[in-house]
Amino acid sequence: TDKPAQGKHYVIGTDTTFAPFEMRDPKTGEMVGIDMDLIRAIAKDQGFTIDIKSLGFDAAVQALKAGQVDAVMAGMSITDERKKTLDFTDGYFESGLQVAVAEGSSIASLDDLKGKKVAVKNGTAGADYAKSISGQYGFTTTSFSDTSNMINDVKVGNSAAFIDDYPVVLYGIQQGSGMQVVGDKVKGNSYGVAVNKGQHPELVQAFNIGLNNLKASGQYQTINETYLGSTA
Ligand code: GLN
Repeated sequence: TDKPAQGKHYVIGTDTTFAPFEMRDPKTGEMVGIDMDLIRAIAKDQGFTIDIKSLGFDAAVQALKAGQVDAVMAGMSITDERKKTLDFTDGYFESGLQVAVAEGSSIASLDDLKGKKVAVKNGTAGADYAKSISGQYGFTTTSFSDTSNMINDVKVGNSAAFIDDYPVVLYGIQQGSGMQVVGDKVKGNSYGVAVNKGQHPELVQAFNIGLNNLKASGQYQTINETYLGSTA
């Protein structure tokens, strides 16, 4: 069938703030962003309904493992490690990682991080990457549950830098986060929607079919351009 999840209802866990993928509309308080627009459009195309829960990234993944949500859509990187316990849809956005510091900081390269603290977000690919290079560059990591608190730790000068997904860091800078990038973008994995292994294969299929439909109709591009401009 071309609508394998038709008539079903799913609870989707997401991050609290991971702009431009998920964030609150300042006027309505509604969850908006690339992920939110995409999943709503795919649900409509595929005839299923959704309930979105804004939990935080690590909390959403834990909620999935505990069976409290059916799926996670939170700019979640498709990694081999995660694939051991989770199934992913096709990738819908190619991402990467980026180190950033406060504007005007004296840190100009990763070598300058020696003896400093680097803020990361719990359970993320960025946190894993930071830990993998911390020995080489001589820094320690401090963990936060969300992007806002992580960046705030750099703002107040406790951490010298933070690591987050490249498009999120860039969007934040455009929105006036007061941060600047250090070093090159690090290659990362694409984002996909995750379900527990072997559960909801019909949702994975429906997402993939819907994603292709949205690409064919131009709606996928429109959603990306809404948040990223014409460079999307
Ligand atoms: N893409 C990163 C990961 O999957 C971060 C996701 C997020 O912070 N919402 O680990």
